Amino acid sequence: MKKIQMVDLKGQYEVIKDTVNNSVIEVIESTAFINGPKVHEFQKNLEHYLGVKHVIPCANGTDALQIAMMGLGLKPGDEVITADFTFAATVEVIALLGLTPVLVDVNPETFNIDVQAIKKAITTKTKAIVPVHLFGQCANMDAIMAIANEHNLYVIEDNAQAIGATYTSSDGTKHKAGTIGHVASTSFFPSKNLGCYGDGGAIFTNDDDLAHRLRGIVNHGMYRRYYHDVVGVNSRLDSIQAAILNTKLQYLDQYNKARQNAAIKYNEAFKNEANIITPVANKACQGICSSCDCHVFHQYTLKVKNINRDDLVQFLNDNNIPCGVYYPVPLHKQKAYEDKRYNEDDFKVTNQLIKEVISLPMHTELDDEQINYITSKIITFING
Ligand SMILES: *Cc1c(COP(=O)(O)O)cnc(C)c1O
Repeated sequence: MKKIQMVDLKGQYEVIKDTVNNSVIEVIESTAFINGPKVHEFQKNLEHYLGVKHVIPCANGTDALQIAMMGLGLKPGDEVITADFTFAATVEVIALLGLTPVLVDVNPETFNIDVQAIKKAITTKTKAIVPVHLFGQCANMDAIMAIANEHNLYVIEDNAQAIGATYTSSDGTKHKAGTIGHVASTSFFPSKNLGCYGDGGAIFTNDDDLAHRLRGIVNHGMYRRYYHDVVGVNSRLDSIQAAILNTKLQYLDQYNKARQNAAIKYNEAFKNEANIITPVANKACQGICSSCDCHVFHQYTLKVKNINRDDLVQFLNDNNIPCGVYYPVPLHKQKAYEDKRYNEDDFKVTNQLIKEVISLPMHTELDDEQINYITSKIITFING
């Protein structure tokens, strides 16, 4: 059996090696390292793939979130509601910009931001909601857009973990994740579903004026060379990363399909285990099926009941099965983001999830032998 890895970037690279290598050499030979034609080409290809009017490439997913918030003109004191159960980047940029993060609980089944909790958290200062499409599937965007319209709020989708996923609205229309809110961010960190070989990110929007502002902000607030109209940042996707992404974008659907197939096999193996709760896909899609893309499994995350999760982690480590705990601490309990206004009763779900979640190896190169080994070891452990 091949050694099991959490993410197998090397195996994935081997398949596309020649194309990727040639595209990288092409950039080096051209010396168009910054804002070269490859960046523009990737931007156009991604716009087409997503069905969105504007993609603004930038240096990483954290910058993408920050620039989106700058572009919307959010001001110190404005409150921004986001999920308590996510990677810290989301809350970090809210705090960095002097905005007030308002963390709220998540749904125990989908791990995504809880709609009732959003409603409860809205005040006269609330200006935006940042749903994070966690682990590969969209938050409840129909409900979130309805709340936003009612209260005149911006919606910034953090799409770092769900690129390529499809969201089906209650009226049956389908949207790619990251094209529903006013603006969205994504990350091309190597282990993301569309990953480059370094850092990279992008912002998406259908709003022409916002897109114009964002293109200036990523480039020192310049709309004309050496004329700085607004305070910006320096956040660029470099041409070598764009060349790699251009190749990998062609495989994104295939990669996501491979992740879904692995998820289906995991689900099947665990289906009779009462103490293992497998991922739940959005209701609109009636569960995970091979013909829909509602969930693209950035992570395959279980909840385990009636056993000690940390003992399971140790057992898997001892058996050379990598695993991850995303996330071990809810954001409202992180030192940097503690706030006296928070009440533990408002975080019942995240406080429970941090004890129960465990993410199994999930990548495009997992094979049946590996999945069988992983699942049979876990089942043996669970049943003592
Ligand atoms: C990865 C990630 C980010 C940050 O992306 P970087 O490219 O690493 O800056 C932001 N939000 C979420 C939910 C992520 O998973």
